[in-house]
Amino acid sequence: MTKPRVVIVGAGFAGYHAAKTLRRLARDRAEIVLLNTTDYFLYLPLLPEVAAGVVEPTRIAVPLAGTLDGVRVVVGEADRVDLQNRWVGYRSIEGDHGQLAYDRLVLSVGSVNKLLPIPGVTEYAHGFRGLPEALFLHDHVVRQVELAELTDDPAEQRARTTFVVVGAGYTGTEVAAHGQLFTDRLTAQRPHLKVRPRWMLLDVAPRALPELDRRMSVTADRVLRKRGVDVRMGTSVAEATPDGVMLTDGEYVPTCSLIWCVGVRPDPFVAELGLRTEKGRLVVDEFLNVPGYPEVFACGDAAAVPDPTRPGQVCAMTAQHAQRQGKLAAHNIAASYGQGVRKSYKHHDLGWVVDLGGKDAAANPLKVPLAGLPAKAVTRGYHLLAMPGNRSRVAADWALDATLPRPAVQLGLVPANAVPLESESPELARRH
Ligand SMILES: Cc1cc2nc3c(=O)[nH]c(=O)nc-3n(C[C@H](O)[C@H](O)[C@H](O)COP(=O)(O)OP(=O)(O)OC[C@H]3O[C@@H](n4cnc5c(N)ncnc54)[C@H](O)[C@@H]3O)c2cc1C
Repeated sequence: MTKPRVVIVGAGFAGYHAAKTLRRLARDRAEIVLLNTTDYFLYLPLLPEVAAGVVEPTRIAVPLAGTLDGVRVVVGEADRVDLQNRWVGYRSIEGDHGQLAYDRLVLSVGSVNKLLPIPGVTEYAHGFRGLPEALFLHDHVVRQVELAELTDDPAEQRARTTFVVVGAGYTGTEVAAHGQLFTDRLTAQRPHLKVRPRWMLLDVAPRALPELDRRMSVTADRVLRKRGVDVRMGTSVAEATPDGVMLTDGEYVPTCSLIWCVGVRPDPFVAELGLRTEKGRLVVDEFLNVPGYPEVFACGDAAAVPDPTRPGQVCAMTAQHAQRQGKLAAHNIAASYGQGVRKSYKHHDLGWVVDLGGKDAAANPLKVPLAGLPAKAVTRGYHLLAMPGNRSRVAADWALDATLPRPAVQLGLVPANAVPLESESPELARRH
């Protein structure tokens, strides 16, 4: 008898943990296929540390092969789902097309950069959602500091050393916090550069980390301002140009660096499946099942999972939810074959960690607010526990960064045109 096949699309927090749990529950009874655009799981929360050169990029790219024995990994991009005939179409990394028939399907394709209709942003801003963007930003920052050192024009020097981050959620706050420390270290190695680089953090919200506990906002605000970050809440970008940005308060800021961290939206792939969506996320029931298709599950950022802890609302797009939903999808798939009983999704927020660089962090594990070194210890401990691999290497990078000067060079591996802010949907990509 052939084994039933479970196809999981997307190997992020949700898909990776769905595959891992299924492997444990049903390794000998089901074929588990994991389709992902890369051959690694990306630990996104440490991306700001990659951009700042604290952690090497390969550390946060945990290989799928080797950490998921018994799971067949297919590297490719899903571009079609035939829900009636039960197969997923994909394009391999070399451009070939393939199909994967399924008995059960998990859709966990995550999210992409969120755009706002602001003139010039698509053309001149850089997103921050993946490894290429972090590598690009690292090079870009080094390049701007090096070019600023070479010029005698004070206006150009000022523009090249001004970095504008839009969005003061955890991503933007961490990018600005690490960014200021990074450029301070760069300038310390460049005695000819007489200006101190300035990082600006903008948000329309009244406080940094608006979606988190107010006490974490207070800590982050204090650390950022003390470090010299220009924190401007209640302010955003009205227009971006090649030479700078016009702020909503009317000030024009000359800059070569606009970093867009205003949040994410579900991967456009899910909108093309012909299934019901809510704010771009696939509608699922409390068992993570897509209504009308008992064999199809969806979880993570791409799914609108009802949140029973906040009746009437869906779960936030967080790794905490995605990871747990991935595990539950696996349990419920096993239950659909008679192993155990299916369960509904419920998770209480366990708190947050925000790494602010150096010895600083803000955290509220189990709602206990922490700052300074205790927060830092909790933050780093949390990341090490949450990473599915490469832990010793990450810890080694942290130890090296604390004890040695940080080397910073432009590797030039990711050109600007390789990291457009706007992600194409697979359908658009096919047409181009
Ligand atoms: C910079 C940054 C920092 C963050 N920090 C935190 C944090 O500290 N704490 C927290 O809780 N959350 C954090 N988040 C949010 C968290 O990372 C997401 O909520 C989480 O990754 C969602 O998991 P997911 O599995 O749904 O999607 P993802 O982890 O994004 O994974 C989706 C996967 O699907 C793949 N994929 C996409 N489209 C296709 C396709 N068509 N075919 C095949 N594969 C596809 C992608 O390559 C990716 O591997 C952060 C996010 C960012 C961007």
